[in-house]
Amino acid sequence: MATKIPTIVCETHHWMLPAPGGPTSVGTCKHCGTEKEFSNAAARGWVPRPAAKKKPATA
Ligand SMILES: [Zn+2]
Repeated sequence: MATKIPTIVCETHHWMLPAPGGPTSVGTCKHCGTEKEFSNAAARGWVPRPAAKKKPATA
């Protein structure tokens, strides 16, 4: 029994990313320990979703 299988399944992973040191970084979920590889190149392109139709704020 050397393999430790996480039994916690998160609905939303909380990725902890190390400092970028290459084209990719391996993030670890703070909650369940799942590892996932992230592309630093893509991370640079984090942009908010294009706002849909903005309604005038005037009342
Ligand atoms: Zn998780």
